[in-house]
Amino acid sequence: MSPPKLKYEALNPNKNSIRILRLLPGRWIDDIQCELQTASLDDNPAYEALSYVWGNPQDTGPIIVDGSHFQATKNLMAALRRLRSSVDLKVLWVDAVCINQADNDEKTHQVGMMARIYKDAADVHVFLGESGVLDLIPEQDQAMWDDPPRLHWVRDMTMLVHTDKPPHKVGKLDSRGVIIDLPNYLKSFKSDSDPGYEPVDAEEFPMWAIWEPEDGLNATDQQRVDDFFARQQNPEYDQNGQLSPLQRLRDNQTGAFAIMKMLSNGRCLKACCQGLLDSPAWTGALEALGHLANLAWWSRAWVLQEAILPQRDVNAIYGEIIAPMGLIEDSGAILPRHYERGDCCKRFWNSLPEDQKRVLQAFAYPMGQLEGIRETLSIIKMKQTEMLKYLLDKTRFKEATDPRDKIYGLLGLLNNCDDPIDLSPDYNLPAKDLYIKVALQMITFSQSLSILHQHELRSSPIMSELPSWVPTWGPTYGSFTPFQIGERTTNFRAWPPGPGHLPHLATDTPYPDALVVQGKLISAITAVTPLMTKSPDISFVSILTSLETFFGIDHPTGDPFASYPFTSPPKPVTTSFARTLLTDQIYELNYALKAGQVVFDRAYPGDIKMFLLAGQILRAQEVGQELVLILPDGTVMDGEAKDHVVRFAEENFWYANQDRVFFQTEEGHFGSGPRDTKVGDEVWIVLGSLVPLVLRPVTQGEECRELVGYGYVHGIMDGEAAPGVEGEGGREVYLV
Ligand SMILES: [Zn+2]
Repeated sequence: MSPPKLKYEALNPNKNSIRILRLLPGRWIDDIQCELQTASLDDNPAYEALSYVWGNPQDTGPIIVDGSHFQATKNLMAALRRLRSSVDLKVLWVDAVCINQADNDEKTHQVGMMARIYKDAADVHVFLGESGVLDLIPEQDQAMWDDPPRLHWVRDMTMLVHTDKPPHKVGKLDSRGVIIDLPNYLKSFKSDSDPGYEPVDAEEFPMWAIWEPEDGLNATDQQRVDDFFARQQNPEYDQNGQLSPLQRLRDNQTGAFAIMKMLSNGRCLKACCQGLLDSPAWTGALEALGHLANLAWWSRAWVLQEAILPQRDVNAIYGEIIAPMGLIEDSGAILPRHYERGDCCKRFWNSLPEDQKRVLQAFAYPMGQLEGIRETLSIIKMKQTEMLKYLLDKTRFKEATDPRDKIYGLLGLLNNCDDPIDLSPDYNLPAKDLYIKVALQMITFSQSLSILHQHELRSSPIMSELPSWVPTWGPTYGSFTPFQIGERTTNFRAWPPGPGHLPHLATDTPYPDALVVQGKLISAITAVTPLMTKSPDISFVSILTSLETFFGIDHPTGDPFASYPFTSPPKPVTTSFARTLLTDQIYELNYALKAGQVVFDRAYPGDIKMFLLAGQILRAQEVGQELVLILPDGTVMDGEAKDHVVRFAEENFWYANQDRVFFQTEEGHFGSGPRDTKVGDEVWIVLGSLVPLVLRPVTQGEECRELVGYGYVHGIMDGEAAPGVEGEGGREVYLV
């Protein structure tokens, strides 16, 4: 007879009670046996917390809890097995078992305490996942183990410091290039009291010095790094695939951690490659690095706070390897500095095959994201609503099985922010209501509709129930990050901030969940181009030509000397055309910010000239002619300068329009809008939105509109069409 199903006894919600899982000692292949114990956080119970992803909820197996059966996901079973000792009892907090998942009230209460549970834990173990080694070890061999083999990697107490700053100012550069105060940076390490660090000149990092412990790096790790280099340089290494698959996999994983070790100690990427780019040791190490970066743990929203909240470095478990999370995180986060910023590794980077670049980028991305969030939380002061928006934007690509967890999973990170948001976990509240509540608080707090400017994929079934004005916080269309969209929409004042009715939720109307905004209809959209997508098959000049035709300004049908009627004073239609194609903005890379961060400026007349010149150069080239251009100093513009002009035009065009469309309105406005813009949609300006919105009439009611996205409409971007001080000309619209 099988054991009965586990029954929970209710927790006392008034006592900060939690359940603690006692994982009983056992040999590797023994069944997993545990006991539950109730404790109050107020009594400072000793426990270690586990961070892991549940994995497929259908793929489960039994563990024994208090003599009863509990169906645990296979991934949880794998984590517990890796954590278990054959000798010692392990005292753990594990959400799937310690919270009665069937009790919404308890779940609400316990999830509200998550931040404290992870902060107070004596240690946190992140189970990243299995690494593949177990599949290569026969079961009869595993049956002999008391404990599985465990390979520990150490994070050395090294750091990068800016060499030209006084000692009290030195520290690690964070992801935005801000120097973190050294004493505070030291506090983030376990052994921060460890004395004896001497600055060492870094030949490979002209900007930075590397501080290393006097007694050198961890010797075992150093040996593994040396072995990895030796394997790369050995032409015989696994030449004919003579190594066993297990040995090969272990070597690859050692290589991956050797790369991480080097990088986190401030060494260069190029210094990690001591052999040929196609040596089996090097390609194998990258393969293992790619496997680690692809694990589900990195893609889940919920685990973020579990890795960030603990006061100390957490242990990451990857199969038989145990390493400080900081080692993995640092190495990935710093990687782009070697190929995007500093010149140290640029040449090496350019020599890498594309697939190797992709693996390294895929590894750098989640680590940089984790570190960026960690450092933003510790340095930047934001109000809770702003921080929640920042975190939701940053985690758009992260997944949660329950859409509510995308939001609830972040609340624990808001504790140190001012102005508490009116939000605590409540699993009795439907997802739709939660998303509306969050959006409404953000709009009310910021007195702005900027969260409406995101244009999101609304694919998940629950999210498709949301009103069009409520963000799903899922992936956005196009190549823009939400931050870039934010940057692109702040340069305008289509309806300048001022008096009027702020957006609010419609109550006592036939349109529940509608957002009431004050808006003014500009014009209906009467023509829309196909989607603008960069493709090697379509030349830029052919796109320019077809857009000239679309806007009716091409020779011989159009009149190039005509003026565009919506600017005051009227401007030539050609420059209005160019400004529309650039959304009147040009980008620049801001190197004070993270590498690759794009900021947008309004276009100057010189920029517009350059854009139009690019069109002329391209058209001349198309017919095999060379345009002769005399510069102000009397010299002739050379080919390189022409290429620069063309590149400027093309890059700015795509920054503005990738994955968007152009349109014309009934009155003749030139504009661009989101990819779903259709004939019959309308351009509105709305109080609270600095850019026009494309809205769609719907059948629910005459005053109802669906939000399509934000638009650029030439001639109304700076308040030209905005209602006067009294707000006349505006009317209430219901966004449904
Ligand atoms: Zn480098």
